[in-house]
Amino acid sequence: MTDCIFCKIVAGEIPSKKLYEDDKIIVINDLNPGAPVHVLIIPKEHTQNILTASDDIVVYVKNKLPEIVKQLGIEEKGFRVVVNTGEDGGQSVPHLHFHVLGGKALGWPPC
Ligand code: AMP
Ligand code: ZN
Repeated sequence: MTDCIFCKIVAGEIPSKKLYEDDKIIVINDLNPGAPVHVLIIPKEHTQNILTASDDIVVYVKNKLPEIVKQLGIEEKGFRVVVNTGEDGGQSVPHLHFHVLGGKALGWPPC
C-alpha cells in the first residue's frame, strides 16, 4: 500500500533496524517504547487489522513467538502481546501489527 508507513518500512523505503526478518514478517523496535522491551511484529503483506487478517498470518505469528521472545530474553519472566484495533482500540497505524512488551512487570488494566 503506497501511503502506509509500515509498508514503507517493510520495503526499506523508511530505514529501520530489523531485529528479525523472514519472508512473512519483520520485527522492529517501537519508536516510542512503553516498556524496556517493546517490539512490533509486522506482517509484510498489508492488511488493516486483526479482523481483516488471514488465519494463516495470525497462526504464523503465534508459531514464531517462542523464537522471538527467546531472542528478546523475555520468555521466562513473561510478556504481553497487544493488537490495538480501530479508533477506540488506539490503533494509530492501519497495518496489522503485534506489540510485544516485556522487561518489567506490566500494569493492568492498560487504560
Ligand atoms: P498502534 O498505535 O497500535 O497502531 O501502534 C503503532 C506503533 O507504531 C506505535 O507504538 C508507534 O510508536 C510505532 N511507530 C510508528 N512509527 C514507527 C516507526 N517509524 N518505527 C517504529 N515504530 C513506529
Ligand atoms: Zn501497510
